[in-house]
Amino acid sequence: MIELRATVPSTLHQSFAGDVYNSAVYLKRCFAEIETSVVTALGEDNLSKKMRERFVSEQLNTQFVFSHNTKVPGMYYIETDDEGERSFIYWRDDSAAKKVVEFMSEDIVKQLSTGDMFFFSGISLAVIENQARPQFWEIVKQLKAAGVKIVFDPNYRARLWDSVEQTKQQYDTAFSLCDITLPGVEDLETLYNVKSVEAVIEYLTPYNIDEIVVKNGPDSVITKEGQTLQSHSITPVKNVVDTTSAGDAFNGVYLGARLDGRTISDAVKLGAKAAGTVIQQPGAIAPKDVFQQAMAQ
Ligand code: ADP
Repeated sequence: MIELRATVPSTLHQSFAGDVYNSAVYLKRCFAEIETSVVTALGEDNLSKKMRERFVSEQLNTQFVFSHNTKVPGMYYIETDDEGERSFIYWRDDSAAKKVVEFMSEDIVKQLSTGDMFFFSGISLAVIENQARPQFWEIVKQLKAAGVKIVFDPNYRARLWDSVEQTKQQYDTAFSLCDITLPGVEDLETLYNVKSVEAVIEYLTPYNIDEIVVKNGPDSVITKEGQTLQSHSITPVKNVVDTTSAGDAFNGVYLGARLDGRTISDAVKLGAKAAGTVIQQPGAIAPKDVFQQAMAQ
């Protein structure tokens, strides 16, 4: 999406962001050797062109970034008040990304089937149009059958859905198909009335997901791999500037580390370090040099 952030009065800072994209950026910044592609649809306008160029400048593969001939990208405006509270306005109901499944031909799915991992979020699901969801699930099943690890972050945004029932139905399919899930406790609270990490794990257990990674803000990260439950402590950051994309940065770097063969505990450490760095910077994407420097320490 196009991100517009109010800085000083009458001035907007324009950048690009979106949960899955943010994760891809941080994965690639930490694991340059892992080929990372973005699957989305943009328009043919100038901002779409610039967005595509940004993907390339972040070393992301744009082979699956499609161009819709009439639609334009979604956009949001973010403002932080004197108390540090953020508010958002979105223009995304008619975005090019809503059409992405239309571009996912048999041939594209075949190419995606050669990957190691396919990551989507609750926001990806909400953005895909109702009538395109059955095709999306067919694609996910095909990728899974080809041995691609399916990864799902519920990232629940109530206003993107028609009803809680609709969300639950879609999430049930997502949890049934995924091999790794990375929920935040808050994400699932409204949907399933689960109020603790333990309750999240208990809720997800019947789905037999290989790897469950529960993010609990600055408190802890709890993981469950098979029957092994582990609690990982987080070093709280004192100077939190903007928590946008904390979870996304965590996801990207955690998944990169797992693809790189690291243990769950090392992957959590790296993911948490990335998230802790990102929340000390405004906006979703921290400046590259600042991020790399912090990760190298
Ligand atoms: P989101 O709401 O963006 O999904 P969370 O608030 O659960 O994400 O945070 C994601 C990750 O960011 C946490 O698992 C943790 O590693 C890190 N994090 C969040 N808040 C803090 C904090 N105050 N100090 C240090 N790390 C934090």
